[in-house]
Amino acid sequence: MVQKLYVTYNDVHKLCQEAAPKLLEEVNPQLMIAIGGGGYVPARILRSFLKRAGSPNIPIQAIGLSLYEQLSTSTDADVEEPGTKVTRTQWLDLSALGEMGSLVGKRILIVDEVDDTRTTLEYAVKELEKDVELAREKFGGEKAQFSIFVLHNKDKQKKGILPEEMTSSGRYVAARTVGDEWICYPWEATDIDEHDALAAKQHE
Ligand code: 5GP
Repeated sequence: MVQKLYVTYNDVHKLCQEAAPKLLEEVNPQLMIAIGGGGYVPARILRSFLKRAGSPNIPIQAIGLSLYEQLSTSTDADVEEPGTKVTRTQWLDLSALGEMGSLVGKRILIVDEVDDTRTTLEYAVKELEKDVELAREKFGGEKAQFSIFVLHNKDKQKKGILPEEMTSSGRYVAARTVGDEWICYPWEATDIDEHDALAAKQHE
């Protein structure tokens, strides 16, 4: 049976707090992009810990991605190989950003709750990089710098690949590295008291 790891709101809060100094030092983000729904709560908590006195709050943009298994075995040339596919369910809100041009040259922190197979993160980084490059062609300016924060990284064979210069330069930050277990986050709990009790039992 797959092991379950129960994580409480307090745990999430403290993981964000603990990671914040490193994120400020290595990334110093100007914008956060939270991958929904697991990235929303960590991004909001992080914002408080990343705030510098006298500076405005770091804006948070939400994006939504949906993963599904493509099982097609069609031999049609235009049908892709079976595998995990990602689709966008929500993307950057340009009315809030002003225009894509405002992403150019920014230090952008992508936030999600868990890095499992890495499919989602690979897709997010690639697509966001593409968008910013298009904006750069139009408006000019520096390359944007993408970084990643996750609460948990599962130590397992990954399907997705992240840019080497990101992982080697401290711009991939996981608050915890865990085994290949199922992590139960508090926002998914239907009974939060039972969830917290199960989490407390784990620590006994
Ligand atoms: P990926 O395999 O692309 O890294 O992760 C895809 C998504 O699957 C994650 O964003 C998350 O929503 C979900 N997921 C993967 N592993 C877990 C887990 O252990 N617990 C929960 N709650 N969701 C998970």
